[in-house]
Amino acid sequence: MMPNTEETRARLAGIPHLTISAGVPLSRYTRFGIGGPADLLVESPRAEAFVAALAVARESGIPYVVIGGGTNLIVSDAGFRGIVLRYRGDRLLAANHRVHADAGAVLQDLVDFAVDRGLQGLETLAGIPGSVGAAVYGNAGAYGHSISERVVKVRFYDGREVRVFDNQECRFEYRESVFKRHKDWIIFAAELLLEPADADALRRTAAGIVQVRNEKFPVTMKCAGSIFKNLLLKDLPPAAAAAVPPAAVREGKVPAAWFLEQAGAKGMERGDIHVASYHANLVYNGGSGTAADLCALIAELKAKVGRRFGIELEEEVQYVG
Ligand SMILES: Cc1cc2nc3c(=O)[nH]c(=O)nc-3n(C[C@H](O)[C@H](O)[C@H](O)COP(=O)(O)OP(=O)(O)OC[C@H]3O[C@@H](n4cnc5c(N)ncnc54)[C@H](O)[C@@H]3O)c2cc1C
Repeated sequence: MMPNTEETRARLAGIPHLTISAGVPLSRYTRFGIGGPADLLVESPRAEAFVAALAVARESGIPYVVIGGGTNLIVSDAGFRGIVLRYRGDRLLAANHRVHADAGAVLQDLVDFAVDRGLQGLETLAGIPGSVGAAVYGNAGAYGHSISERVVKVRFYDGREVRVFDNQECRFEYRESVFKRHKDWIIFAAELLLEPADADALRRTAAGIVQVRNEKFPVTMKCAGSIFKNLLLKDLPPAAAAAVPPAAVREGKVPAAWFLEQAGAKGMERGDIHVASYHANLVYNGGSGTAADLCALIAELKAKVGRRFGIELEEEVQYVG
């Protein structure tokens, strides 16, 4: 524990509507099922309480991190020496074609909410696990679309005050946003602009996507989806770009899985951490895996692809601790 953790805990305890726990294993909060304890875990469904907790965390000088559903996280075996914060506000509101979503809402609930109201634009995100806040943070997407296409405004706390950014200011790119470059900024809500469409047709699209996804990522699989980001063909060194068959390129991107497969990643393992036999960019915990083995396997995969193609794969997963 950090030296002033007890004092900080006492200050946090004075804020209403916070749930504070000490020494909780973060493995319970990650889909990998991996991660040691957090000194303090602080949760709240109330934005004001959360801002107050963030202010205390900042003043204490103790490191802090915000998590969502833990579906894209690798938490170290030692856990996190500091404060882990989880915002649980999950309101979803619609006015005409605009939808307000609190950051703690489950992304799938937002997709269902929009689809049920005959609002088009989020249905291709069906089946992506995790929260709305993290989806904005990492510009989550699938099937050629990402949440940024629909985001109008994002409300966040920059450590001093609550601010609102429009879409441009969020500087969205493929699996990127300004929030990834300011890890102490905390997203509270997003406003999205959608289009009217037939609800049944949207429902069919979403259901079809979920079915395909569930075959690729069984719901009980302890994983983070893709470990590495795909690569933009235009950014590849010429030799690596020349090695890629045109059929492997989708929307100007080369799947990281293609490079990993060529480098022999499928079926690799370390301890109880495995690369799926059917998908080279899918790494999962067989049940007793550790973060140490997971990180070592990721490093080995990067090295293999680096040696073979002269490129550096970049993790889509985020590290804590
Ligand atoms: C089976 C499976 C399939 C997946 N498929 C896809 C896919 O198709 N496309 C895709 O894009 N992703 C995919 N992912 C990855 C994951 O679903 C997304 O990254 C998701 O947005 C993570 O949400 P989370 O709430 O679990 O975030 P977490 O894993 O808890 O956190 C991820 C990051 O977001 C930050 N964060 C969380 N909440 C906030 C907040 N309120 N403010 C600021 N920062 C915050 C955290 O600090 C952390 O750095 C998949 C994951 C799994 C397990």
